[in-house]
Amino acid sequence: MDFRLTDRQRELVELAGKLGRERFAPRAARYDAEASFPFENYADLRDSGLLALCVPEAFGGGGADYQTYCLVSAEIGRHCGATALTFNMHSCAMMWSGPLADDLQMSDEDRCGHDARRPRHFRRVVDDGAIYAQPFSEGNEAAAGKAPFGTVARKVERGWRLSGKKIFASLAGAADYYGVLCTEEIPGKPLDRRDTLYLAVKADTPGVKVVGEWDPLGMRATVSRTLLLEDVAVPDGEELMPRGLYHKAAGAWPHMFMTLAPTYMGLAEAAYDFTVAYLRGEVPGMPPVKRRMFATKQLAVAEMFLKLEQTRALFHRAISDARVDPDKRSRMRALAAQYTIMENANDLARLAIRTCGGHSMLKSLPLERIYRDSRCGALMLPWTAEICLERLGREALYEPGERDD
Ligand SMILES: Cc1cc2nc3c(=O)[nH]c(=O)nc-3n(C[C@H](O)[C@H](O)[C@H](O)COP(=O)(O)OP(=O)(O)OC[C@H]3O[C@@H](n4cnc5c(N)ncnc54)[C@H](O)[C@@H]3O)c2cc1C
Repeated sequence: MDFRLTDRQRELVELAGKLGRERFAPRAARYDAEASFPFENYADLRDSGLLALCVPEAFGGGGADYQTYCLVSAEIGRHCGATALTFNMHSCAMMWSGPLADDLQMSDEDRCGHDARRPRHFRRVVDDGAIYAQPFSEGNEAAAGKAPFGTVARKVERGWRLSGKKIFASLAGAADYYGVLCTEEIPGKPLDRRDTLYLAVKADTPGVKVVGEWDPLGMRATVSRTLLLEDVAVPDGEELMPRGLYHKAAGAWPHMFMTLAPTYMGLAEAAYDFTVAYLRGEVPGMPPVKRRMFATKQLAVAEMFLKLEQTRALFHRAISDARVDPDKRSRMRALAAQYTIMENANDLARLAIRTCGGHSMLKSLPLERIYRDSRCGALMLPWTAEICLERLGREALYEPGERDD
């Protein structure tokens, strides 16, 4: 496949690169050390227009499609993994409500309701610079798509009452709105995945609490603490998707779960970039000692280049495949890309440290952080490395409806 960026994509990637190099990268060590949220980076994203990247143009946003989002996100990840990861949570709330929902089949009534509701979310981002988070995980099988969410919403007059607990809620305490996936509680009916709701909850609503410590190995500036929702009142109109649409989207638009991968593609690029600069004696703050003349270093960097190119090729191919109702091979390729990117990002960081040597793992240099951040990708639901393998094996060997009794 001939993968070329459009002029608009190139322009946006260059903008993300400039912000990343000049603003995010120099701040990354401090936010990592403090495990604090990079508000300054979000001010820059706001000022540059990138905060509204995935808001449709008709609502004053950047109008980015899935592929464009992935390219921009990877470029941010190259300079600050944690900023890219939280930018994913925020941007996906806009993308799922915007272009992704446009692709999905829904009744005229649902379409009409959605079109009436979603401008409020877009306006908040475009006009007020609001930040959205995506707390889905609960520490049960729900985020993996195997059980209904245990966070429940009960319909009341003029809105919902929401109760539950979300773990690893990136942007906890920093977001203006939490896009909460939950199950509609229908009296007399067991909780059902088909009744999944996606509600925006204003962060300062009574009953919303951020609790727990945050002192993890990597991705420290995501501040992914625990979110408690204690009988929270959510007004009608805060739905980010019509009732039940998330469940349909998960089947019809599977690439929606691959959007964490660009962050880690960026980290893979960063590990390689660092190694080349280090061996050339060009890392800022280091004595200009060249190590590139040793054959062992040349072989090692060649091995890294091969791995990086293989990873990037699959990334580009998979993000070009993304659409509603992709064919079986495209679905499998998305899982393969996710697995490959998440595993190779960490492997490239490992190879980078082995190749560059002892000095490269000092905390004063970015590689040590890249190594820790890159470790987190394979753990992230719903497409953890293990779940990707499990699904790939099954999809390779079974056609829909086939079973062995
Ligand atoms: C830095 C960081 C930021 C995060 N940010 C967010 C966020 O913003 N929003 C959010 O919703 N979540 C977020 N997460 C959470 C993440 O997506 C996972 O939910 C979390 O890491 C799971 O942790 P756990 O220990 O409960 O894993 P478990 O659920 O216990 O899973 C452990 C492993 O078991 C396997 N597994 C789990 N369920 C199944 C299954 N049904 N079938 C087969 N295998 C399974 C998986 O491979 C998984 O890695 C974040 C995680 C990290 C590390």
